[in-house]
Amino acid sequence: MNSPDAIGPALDSLIAAARKAALHSYSPYSHFSVGAALRLASGDVVTGTNVENASYGLTICAERSALVRAVAEFGPAIRITAVAVANLNDSASPPCGACRQMLAEFIEPDAPVAFPSSDGIRVMPFSMVFPLVFELKH
Ligand code: ZN
Repeated sequence: MNSPDAIGPALDSLIAAARKAALHSYSPYSHFSVGAALRLASGDVVTGTNVENASYGLTICAERSALVRAVAEFGPAIRITAVAVANLNDSASPPCGACRQMLAEFIEPDAPVAFPSSDGIRVMPFSMVFPLVFELKH
């Protein structure tokens, strides 16, 4: 695990953006407010937050909401070079499996992923966060 010292100013600002996005969370059911921020190869930063639904199953996580927003704003050729996840609940919140699989199609394998863990903020390359990606070759 990386120490907090491994979080440079660029990642620090991405974490702050994720935290700000969490303030917009729509989470009346879980009261778990999550934000995510993606840095793109272009330098642009796109944020997202979790949006829950009464059906529960239709809820979308902050990471995927940021991803679909990034594609909508910048197109399908985007490449993600860093990810930050934050929550307002002082809880561990690494990206869930669904978000890891969705991010995998757009992220550089060595992109740092920063997320709250039980030991503070943890930073890992995406390839360690999600080593076995499901891919369709065509
Ligand atoms: Zn998720």
